[in-house]
Amino acid sequence: MSRKETAFITGITGQDGSYLAEFLLDKGYEVVGLTRRTTHQRFENIEHLAGKIILEFGDLMDPETIEHIVAEYKPSEVYNLAAQSVPADSWKHPMVTGEITALGTVRVLEALRKHKPDARFYQATSREIYGGVKQEVIDEQSPVFANNPYGIAKLYSHLMTLNYRDSYDMYTASGILFNHESPRRGLHFVTRKVTSAAAAIKLGITNPPLNERGRPLIESGKLRLGNLEAMRDWGYAKEYVVAMWMMLQQDRPEDYVIATNTMYSVQDLCQLAFGHVGLDWRDHVESDTRFMRPTEIEVQRGDYSKAQRQLGWEPKTSFPELVRLMVDADVERFKGGSFQTE
Ligand code: NDP
Ligand code: GDP
Repeated sequence: MSRKETAFITGITGQDGSYLAEFLLDKGYEVVGLTRRTTHQRFENIEHLAGKIILEFGDLMDPETIEHIVAEYKPSEVYNLAAQSVPADSWKHPMVTGEITALGTVRVLEALRKHKPDARFYQATSREIYGGVKQEVIDEQSPVFANNPYGIAKLYSHLMTLNYRDSYDMYTASGILFNHESPRRGLHFVTRKVTSAAAAIKLGITNPPLNERGRPLIESGKLRLGNLEAMRDWGYAKEYVVAMWMMLQQDRPEDYVIATNTMYSVQDLCQLAFGHVGLDWRDHVESDTRFMRPTEIEVQRGDYSKAQRQLGWEPKTSFPELVRLMVDADVERFKGGSFQTE
């Protein structure tokens, strides 16, 4: 880059935001991140970036702060990663999911339209926009049919992103990302539940973290999960954030599916994670109806051939490798006494 470009990331404290910030800093960007003000601030994923990134306090619910930040920094690239990002929680919180995951995107788009219309905008769309589509392999041409409150909110944002491109000739692109995981994945997603439980049981940890119901993750030596037959196309988050950047470097804005085109079940995940530390998952995992969902998305994998062809992007880390690196990271965390951070 000839001059220092500024990138603005919403959701910088999350899994993807933290990896993207590292990637953009390496590329020479000035990185500005949006973070919510909370009483007990937690910055595990970005603590190591202190002094290298600029943090601005604000909220996707509050248009004023977003406009203020855009007007002040005039970013050339904006990555909208903030969301109520947990599909499983979205049935309990449909309104806040809509406020943040759907309308939050429009607040960012409006701020750009008013203060920096030539900024390039990335929207974190999810494969959940195809949740109910009965088609095993999904690509950019597949019909959309979201079937949970999170997916529906993401679909609204996806279409609004396209609408700002068409209506105002803005450079807006959506990455339609399939599940992607890492040691920084939130603890309530199934991969981290399983990798942290395998590590905790292996090390004999007696005070495990809490699960999504506020109970100890492991009780009486058992990890409680929902549907063990559920399948996902799981990739490595660190590789997926590179695709986000690539999407904003093209001549024309377009949308891209990012995935691995492979599928594994939750049971496969358990087998890989517990097996990596020499345990038999069947001795430690129980299926519990309280973790089942009112609807499941269809079994689907993502065809990323457009991204491969146009961006030169492809996944590199296999799912078994990903599970092993996540278990190893959780073992190290427990040993180091700092459970939450990578
Ligand atoms: P995370 O849950 O790790 O991060 C979500 C981020 O959003 C956090 O930084 C969170 O901040 C922030 N946030 C939540 N609500 C608000 C708000 N009201 N105002 C400002 N910030 C807020 O998600 P990921 O990094 O995994 O995912 C990034 C994006 O990609 C999300 O939009 C997600 O829905 C989407 N996505 C993710 C996939 C995946 O498999 N990971 C797949 C497809 C799409 P705080 O720390 O304060 O909670
Ligand atoms: P999602 O695809 O973004 O909803 O990611 P999750 O990691 O939350 O869920 C992936 C799949 O794992 C879904 O089909 C869940 O039904 C299934 N699953 C099975 N047991 C659990 C569990 O205990 N917690 C979560 N979060 N998911 C589970």
